Amino acid sequence: MDEAVVAADVTKRYGETVALDGVDLSVADGEVFGLIGPNGAGKTTLVRALTGTTAVDGEIAVEGNAPTAVDPDRIGLLPQSFSPPARLTARELIDYYGGLYETARETDEILSTVGLAEDADSYYETLSGGQQRRVCVGIALVNDPEVLFLDEPTTGIDPAGRRSLWSVLETLADGGTTILLTSHSMAEVQRLSDRVGLLQAGRLVAVGTP
Ligand code: ADP
Repeated sequence: MDEAVVAADVTKRYGETVALDGVDLSVADGEVFGLIGPNGAGKTTLVRALTGTTAVDGEIAVEGNAPTAVDPDRIGLLPQSFSPPARLTARELIDYYGGLYETARETDEILSTVGLAEDADSYYETLSGGQQRRVCVGIALVNDPEVLFLDEPTTGIDPAGRRSLWSVLETLADGGTTILLTSHSMAEVQRLSDRVGLLQAGRLVAVGTP
């Protein structure tokens, strides 16, 4: 099976702090990989490294390219803290972010993929936390990515909102999208992931099925 994401001996230091300490990881095309670990373990740093938003030592390939060289149309990212302009509607936000790419998916199609067809014309600031996060997932999907990075996609969302987001992600996974997600929810990684990696103090200490 082809590898969508490969990291070899990835190390990141912030001064004295070793955020990533020789991480080796590979995620196959179409796989859902869940990354768990306590606060400060290095999960966000690893997502940033894999998406080219922080420079690290070691080798990383995403769809066969360095993270900064991979075609941006092929990658989607939902950062841990992401607040789009609150005084735009869900539809306006999807339109706006879609406009940043050469080609984008149809706004209505994305709105229905993330279950927001009914609330498309509501302002972001009036949506519930779960609906807001679904808008953010929709934004991460505007370029129809082959590989999707989701940093704590459901943190702070109530159980019903979380379950509805899980079904959105399951649909994407069933459609063949490769997903790497970080989470503090064991239920989430168990339900969604083909494989789970446990990161602790910058080291990937265990990898296996949920
Ligand atoms: P996690 O996402 O698992 O909570 P992080 O990747 O955010 O962990 O952080 C890993 C370690 O790197 C922590 O010790 C954190 O304090 C440190 N760190 C992360 N980002 C920075 C930064 N920009 N500057 C300095 N230290 C950082």
